[in-house]
Amino acid sequence: MPTNISIVIPLLNEAPSLRELHADLLSVAEANDYCFEIVFVDDGSSDQSWEIIEELAAQDARVKGVQLRRNFGKAAALSAGTGVAQHAYVVTIDADLQDDPSEIPNLLSTLETGYDVVSGWKKDRQDPWSRRWASRIFNGMVNTLTQVKLHDHNCGFKLYRREVFDEVDLYGGFHRFVPVLAAARGFRIGEAVVNHRPRKHGRSRYGPFRMVQGFLDLMTVCFLTGYSQRPQQLLGLVGLTSFLGGISGMVFMAIYWVLRMNFYPDWTPLHQRPVVIYSVAALLVGTQLLTMGFLAELMVARDQKRSRRYAVRTMVGNPHQSSSASTTD
Ligand code: UDP
Ligand code: MG
Repeated sequence: MPTNISIVIPLLNEAPSLRELHADLLSVAEANDYCFEIVFVDDGSSDQSWEIIEELAAQDARVKGVQLRRNFGKAAALSAGTGVAQHAYVVTIDADLQDDPSEIPNLLSTLETGYDVVSGWKKDRQDPWSRRWASRIFNGMVNTLTQVKLHDHNCGFKLYRREVFDEVDLYGGFHRFVPVLAAARGFRIGEAVVNHRPRKHGRSRYGPFRMVQGFLDLMTVCFLTGYSQRPQQLLGLVGLTSFLGGISGMVFMAIYWVLRMNFYPDWTPLHQRPVVIYSVAALLVGTQLLTMGFLAELMVARDQKRSRRYAVRTMVGNPHQSSSASTTD
């Protein structure tokens, strides 16, 4: 029995690479007895990409194409592609020929050792040194701030069990964090070294601000995966610290004021002490954060009625699963 795999390819202006990528994928399918479904997602290209996809789809029944109305970003393109994918295994691969399709058997054999996601690791990365260092810093930050330790979080070449995409919502810049988001839903994450090649045509589709965007998305992902079910744990902690700092400052100034009145009438007047201003500011900020935390908790509590808090791996005995099921911790 051939192994059924959906290949999802997000692309932005990659016309010169598409035919070669298609041919490479076919030779991998043939050599390994795979049955491929190839889903090209055109993320708002302005070159000939879509015409080539149409041509490939006309020649080869395995090829499907999704054309987005404009450039929505790689995460949205992946979401559109995986939504169409039908096979039990899904490979995502960049369209620029930097990822080597002949690594698919390697990813698959790693997955079979007990994972739901296998992330490629471009150990010998063929990109400029500035990109390699930026990526090292980014991976270090993600590894420090999340529970998922990988060498190469942002590698576009990954293998998934399809059900991962029933649980993980991809938008914005979240394509950099699929393993983190998947792990937060209980999927098991592995990695495998993959061959990486220099870009053949054109330049990277991302500008110099990708690090900043990545960092902001990292903060959002940390909040969503760590605190979205209990926002007060974060907001409340910061708020309480600020509030207690403010109270301490006020108590200190009250003692100072009493001492000044009774023993040292020539001390600096109270309104000239910056501590007073800082304390009042800290009290206000603390109260605001605590109140915001309660509001956020209220929103989460209401949302529970509609969305699921947990993810089920498997079931036996044909139980009925309600999509609106919810539990408490
Ligand atoms: N890509 C996309 N939408 C975008 C940006 C990029 O679909 O808005 C695709 C791009 O065509 C390529 C993949 O995502 O297939 C990776 O992009 P790129 O090679 O520019 O990233 P890098 O390898 O520099 O990280
Ligand atoms: Mg690339």
